[in-house]
Amino acid sequence: MGHHKSKSPRYPKSHLMAASGIAAALSIFLLVIPTTEVEAKKTLVQLDLQELRLEASEPALSEELDALISETVTLTSPLELTSTSESMHTTASPEVVQAGISLQPVAVEPVASVAAPAPEWNSVTVAPGDTLSILFQNAGLSANTLHAVVNSSKDAKAFTRLRVGQEVDFKMDDEGQLLGMRSKLNSLETIRIDRDGDSYAFSKDVIEPEVSTRFANGSIDSSLFLAAQNAGLSHNLTMQMANIFGYDVDFAREIRQGDSFEVLFEEKHVDDQRVGTGNILAARFTNRGKTYTAVRYTDRNGQSSYYRADGTSMRKAFIRTPVEFARISSRFNPGRRHPVLNKIRAHKGVDYAAATGTPIKATGDGRVVHVGRKGGYGNTVVIKHGQTYQTLYAHMSRYASGLRAGSNVSQGQVIGYVGATGLATGPHLHYEFQVNGTHVDPLSVKLPASDPIPQSERTAFMTLSNQLMASLDQQGATQLAQLDD
Ligand SMILES: [Zn+2]
Repeated sequence: MGHHKSKSPRYPKSHLMAASGIAAALSIFLLVIPTTEVEAKKTLVQLDLQELRLEASEPALSEELDALISETVTLTSPLELTSTSESMHTTASPEVVQAGISLQPVAVEPVASVAAPAPEWNSVTVAPGDTLSILFQNAGLSANTLHAVVNSSKDAKAFTRLRVGQEVDFKMDDEGQLLGMRSKLNSLETIRIDRDGDSYAFSKDVIEPEVSTRFANGSIDSSLFLAAQNAGLSHNLTMQMANIFGYDVDFAREIRQGDSFEVLFEEKHVDDQRVGTGNILAARFTNRGKTYTAVRYTDRNGQSSYYRADGTSMRKAFIRTPVEFARISSRFNPGRRHPVLNKIRAHKGVDYAAATGTPIKATGDGRVVHVGRKGGYGNTVVIKHGQTYQTLYAHMSRYASGLRAGSNVSQGQVIGYVGATGLATGPHLHYEFQVNGTHVDPLSVKLPASDPIPQSERTAFMTLSNQLMASLDQQGATQLAQLDD
């Protein structure tokens, strides 16, 4: 009965960022599908058409169709930042962190030793069908040694998960007994075991990559994805950009030819080799003549979020739509004839028709005040967002596991799944939005912005923001100058 034992789950702040702009991210995902999958694009276009028909007709629609299908893009290449201020990036010289536990000192490889020839590492490449057992047999090592290695620690079992093409190095003593074994898992991680008396000690070397700041910009001819790709942005960075600007720009429907972006982002290197990208540090996005800014800021508690260059929030306190890829089947209407009851009854929310089981997301951070049956609403969740706002989600087939009254939820968190419980003619979500106890149209209500940068962080933020915006200007100008040459 009671939920006295319920513990509010705690969600990391990053969850909030992740949740923001999910709509944009998903739409982008479809646009991102390789060009061979034209069908997927067509589906997206049709979805857009359906929704657009309900709204005022868009004059640029045919342009947009062309934009989605066309593949020509003006490209500008990324440019290495030559001068960066220290606060803008963390430049760590490559250093090796020993993360292993071993009581005995780990055998150290002699560096350029002229004396007794030290045992050498012999490298083996994992072939299809190879197991650690086979590699041991091939190396002339006994089953006992295999057991000793694999059972030496939980971590050592990592050596049993071999990929084809992975390299495993062995080192033996004069008698052919195993001294050590090591294998590189990726460009940053190497696992290793070393003989330690009768057993083996596991260790893991993790290289801290060097992080540098890079600049990229591009102008959109067709899709954001193609322009970003041509500008040298990874898929990950493109998704970050779509998330960051997801409240201001509808990347599926509002992108126009001539839109442009400038981005400062982290790039990771090991020994002058690029091993990946990190976070977007600052960005500008110009959509239909309007420029939006974003600055990543990490506060004193280590929490990172994006703000506009002036310190106001990029996020809105609510996302507009609680379900993805759903069709609006009934709008907010105070004088509607109810389809089941067949009499005039105000429709106090918006209905989204979607397949049973489609996830439903909390539109804002808040506290769950009701989970359960609620008359004609069927399975219903009600969330209170501070003192002013309340949202309701009805006709669910089921709730998200663990969700109960008193739970804290964050924006974008899945709270349940579309169904047809209660008075419903088919599977749909009935969504209501209340301001100070009064129902308003969720599609037209002016959504409040999230909190701006706190006063206590404002000075530090503005210093960083001015620096990054200046850097974007400077890099853009440098690149223009180079193109002119
Ligand atoms: Zn409804």
